[in-house]
Amino acid sequence: MIDGMDKTIGVYVHIPFCVKKCPYCDFNSIAVAGLSEGLYDRYIDAVIEDLVFQIKARPALSERVLETIYMGGGTPSLLSAENMKRLVSGIREGFPASGQQEITVEVNPGTATLDKLTSFIEAGINRLSIGIQSFNGEGLNSLGRVHSVQDSLNCYEDARSAGFDNIGIDLIFGIPGQSVAGWEADVDKAICLRPEHLSTYNLTIEQGTPFFKMQKEGRPLLPTEEDQIRMYELGIERLISAGYHHYEISNFSLDGFESRHNNRYWLAEDYLGLGAGAHSYLAVPDWGVRWWNDTDPLRYIQFIKDTGRATEGMERLTREEAITEGIFLGLRRMKGIDLDWFQERFGVSLKSSCTNEITALEAGGLLNEAGNQLRLTHKGILMSNSVIAALIE
Ligand code: SF4
Repeated sequence: MIDGMDKTIGVYVHIPFCVKKCPYCDFNSIAVAGLSEGLYDRYIDAVIEDLVFQIKARPALSERVLETIYMGGGTPSLLSAENMKRLVSGIREGFPASGQQEITVEVNPGTATLDKLTSFIEAGINRLSIGIQSFNGEGLNSLGRVHSVQDSLNCYEDARSAGFDNIGIDLIFGIPGQSVAGWEADVDKAICLRPEHLSTYNLTIEQGTPFFKMQKEGRPLLPTEEDQIRMYELGIERLISAGYHHYEISNFSLDGFESRHNNRYWLAEDYLGLGAGAHSYLAVPDWGVRWWNDTDPLRYIQFIKDTGRATEGMERLTREEAITEGIFLGLRRMKGIDLDWFQERFGVSLKSSCTNEITALEAGGLLNEAGNQLRLTHKGILMSNSVIAALIE
C-alpha cells in the first residue's frame, strides 16, 4: 500500500509436516514418521497463540479486515478436519468480521479423503491448491513423490464432489527424464480437468537436497536448458489458447480466479505469517518491516509455550531494499509495475531514474509499456533476472 493506509491483511500459516521428504525439496518441512499423533494438536494450539501474541505486539492489526488466509507447507492436508476448523476459526476471531475471504489450503493427493475435503468446506475453506506436479507416473517417481497419478485424479474429483469451485493445480516441468512431449501431455491433461488456476514451476536443484548431491556427483538430472525453455514457452502457449490468463511468471487463471493471497505478496501488501519459519511483512513504518519465526517446528511449539512468541529475527527495509523489492515483485506480474504506485511510494519516477536502462531494455524487446504499467515482454520473461538487475543497478 502506498501511504500506510492498508486496512486489510492476509494471513499465511505454515504447516511444516509431510509424509516423506521429497529429494528436491528445500522447503521448511519434516517427515512425520515417528512423530507423535498429538503433535498436530500442539502445533495448532501454538499457531493460534502465535496470532494472539502478534496482535498484542501490534494492536492496530486487530482492526484490519481479513482478506485472505493461506495454509501452505509442507502438507497442510495432513491436518484433521477438527484441527483445520480450529485453525480457521481461531484466525477469523483475531479480526473484525468481514465479507467473503479467500481461504486456501494446499492439498497433496493421497492425504485428503472426500470426507476430509467436505469438512474443509464446512470449516470455511473455499479454495484448494492441489500439488499434482505431474500426470506421469515415471515423473512422480523421479520426483520421489508418495502419490500416484490415480491419487491425483481421485483427489481432484473428490474436491469437486465436496463442492470446491476454486481449485488450483501445481505442475512441475524440467523433471529428470521428462521430454518436451511429456510436459505437453501434462499440460493438456491439466487443461482437460479445467481447474480455475494453474501454477507451472521449473524444477530447480537446491543446495543441501539429495538432488543437489546427485548433480554434484556428476549425475546430470535435468533436461537440457533448451528443452526447459521450450517447456516453459509451450506451457504458456497451450494455457493461453485454452482460455487461461497468464498473470504472473508461473501462474495462470481463468477469469476472476487469480490468487488473491499471492497477489498480496507481489503487490507488496501486508501479511502476517504464523507457524514455524513463517515470515510477516508490513509496508510501514518507513520502508517496510519484516520478521520471521524460528524454523524448527518442535522448537517453535516450545518457544510459544514458554514465552508466547517464536520470533527469530526482524529487519527494517532501507529505501533501496524496498525499491529493489518493488521492482522485483512488480515485474513478476504480467501487468508489470504500476508507475504511479512507484512514484507515490518512493517519491521518484522509475522512468526518469532509469531512462537509459529502460530505453535499452525496450529497444532489446525485453520491456514494454502499456498505459501506466512497465512490464516484461515474452522475451523479457525468459531473461527476467538480467532485466531486473539492469533496473536495480
Ligand atoms: S510434499 Fe512438498 S513440502 Fe513436502 S517434502 Fe515434498 S515438495 Fe517438500
